[in-house]
Amino acid sequence: MRLVVDLNKCQGYAQCAFLAPDVFAMHGDESLIYNPRADEEQRERLARAVAACPVQAITADGLDGARGPVAGSAREASDGR
Ligand code: SF4
Repeated sequence: MRLVVDLNKCQGYAQCAFLAPDVFAMHGDESLIYNPRADEEQRERLARAVAACPVQAITADGLDGARGPVAGSAREASDGR
């Protein structure tokens, strides 16, 4: 899965590094390093990181709707009584 971080937007908040530590890491106080070809198994974490980035700096292929609820949460909603 390919992803791009717009480093002109990135403010180094590190939300992504917290949520998907196998993909993102902080290098020093403010610079972000990341794997632009994340494994497919990182999809859910990556979706959370995309949704959590306060400046929407992360774009990833195949994660349309990543800013909505993360897959899996709909299951709980369908059990409404
Ligand atoms: S969450 Fe967004 S702003 Fe923060 S480090 Fe990651 S890409 Fe940058």
